[in-house]
Amino acid sequence: MTHAELWERHKAVMPDWLALYYEEPIEIVRGSGRRVTDGEGNEYLDFFAGILTNAIGYDIAEISDAVREQLASGVAHTSTVYLIRRQIELAEKIAELSGIPDAKVFFANSGTEANETALLLATQNRRSNQVLALRNSYHGRAFGTVAITGNRGWSASSLSPVNVQYVQGAYRYRSPFRELPDAEYIKVCTDDLRNVIETTTAGDVACMILEPIQGVGGFSSPPDGLYAAFKEVLDEFGILLISDEVQTGWGRTGENFWGIQAHGVVPDAMTFAKGLGNGFAIGGVVARAGLMDSLSANSLSTFGGNPISTSAAKATIDYLLDHDLQANAAKRGAQLMDGLRGISEEFPELGDVRGKGLMLAAEIVKNGQEPDSKTTAKLQQETKNRGLLIGKGGLYGNVLRMAPPMTLTEEETTEALEIIRDSFDTLR
Ligand code: PLP
Repeated sequence: MTHAELWERHKAVMPDWLALYYEEPIEIVRGSGRRVTDGEGNEYLDFFAGILTNAIGYDIAEISDAVREQLASGVAHTSTVYLIRRQIELAEKIAELSGIPDAKVFFANSGTEANETALLLATQNRRSNQVLALRNSYHGRAFGTVAITGNRGWSASSLSPVNVQYVQGAYRYRSPFRELPDAEYIKVCTDDLRNVIETTTAGDVACMILEPIQGVGGFSSPPDGLYAAFKEVLDEFGILLISDEVQTGWGRTGENFWGIQAHGVVPDAMTFAKGLGNGFAIGGVVARAGLMDSLSANSLSTFGGNPISTSAAKATIDYLLDHDLQANAAKRGAQLMDGLRGISEEFPELGDVRGKGLMLAAEIVKNGQEPDSKTTAKLQQETKNRGLLIGKGGLYGNVLRMAPPMTLTEEETTEALEIIRDSFDTLR
């Protein structure tokens, strides 16, 4: 079957949302290290790690072995009503790494479920469905998480089970406060938060949820310290803080294991997914025990924390820590950032370079600051033609997002930068 036939069959029985990322999506049939091969034999350096799912890369023996060992027992999964050894070990590890005192962990299968669970915890704990989120945010694809997503392209529905208000925060580039120094920007956002609480809510806000770096929103990073300033206001009003670490967890931002740590803040809960299973589906919430235990109904996820996913996840965390991939993310991120800044000096189309560690974005513009999704799509295609897969995103689909596996080498970073540069050259 040809690639074109496969794509036609896909579209015939599934929504063609896939085209959002790639006009001509490829079929990935093999992977090794940071590289994948498509059904037609083309090889690519994967600079999006799947979709930040393959935190370590492809074909990692330690992860395959852990999963094979579980499969060899004859039990892929029964149910989460039984004790699962790997699940317990993983929960212990995540609780310890979380920095949240007296932490407990709940496992689900995705980031969406993780955030739905966190919303449930907070709204039941506070007996209120009033939630605060950030403009340009993305938190998932279920009823509650769509409702708290502050990004037009992804919010889809105005029917909402939660009462949500949005605050200015991470996305400064396309705000009226773009030119403000950090300290003044932090003050503007914190005043906005206070104003939103005092003037648009009944005063019974359950929680605020935020991404340390906004993922789908285009890797928008707030100045360090913004969320600490938010936390002071939230504490004053008794509002819980949830950090959505679905993209920013596990050391990807380089300087910290969790993105929120850049702000010197310990949240009440963190949600996680994506890279944890290095491709196996797993997500969850880590929260203060007092909060986790506040669910008034029994809570159980049939597949959340199943033996296969938790085996993969435990092996992934061990690998990340044993190889200090957080430090590698910092080093390779600095190299990539330097290279991108160099390209932005030559090409006015590269309006903003931002992010941290191996979570870096290039916002593409025309006429100064106007979003240019067409050129973004062309650049993504040009890099793909040259053997490099890059993600796309942002409020206007005009942001190239780079988040390669955290095992990325210096040579691969150089190779990717050369391809990106050559792709920009095609704009001339
Ligand atoms: N939260 C953030 C920050 C995300 O980036 C995503 C997915 O992109 C989600 C939640 C939803 O995760 P999932 O697609 O695993 O449901």
